Amino acid sequence: MGEATAGVLGEVLAERQRQDARWGQQDHDPSTWLMVLAEEVGEANQAVFETLFPSYDKRAAERGPRSLAEYHLELLQVAAVAVAAIESLDRQHPQG
Ligand SMILES: [Mg+2]
Repeated sequence: MGEATAGVLGEVLAERQRQDARWGQQDHDPSTWLMVLAEEVGEANQAVFETLFPSYDKRAAERGPRSLAEYHLELLQVAAVAVAAIESLDRQHPQG
């Protein structure tokens, strides 16, 4: 594992802590977690799509153009939600 990996995992940890501070411990069933994860994947998709194809960005006029930094942030949210889902699964089914 290189420095880049450690840096990204540190960002995921920070996002995971931010989510816990906002929402508290979440213990959803697997289908709900997958819906939450899919919602975050959709936001990542929208961020990169609107960055690469700004003419399709309907909200650019009100908030300015999108950037790959937003795509980066959304990917961190995807990873952090996946971690939260694993934690929840392990709490509910500790024997696997
Ligand atoms: Mg998001």
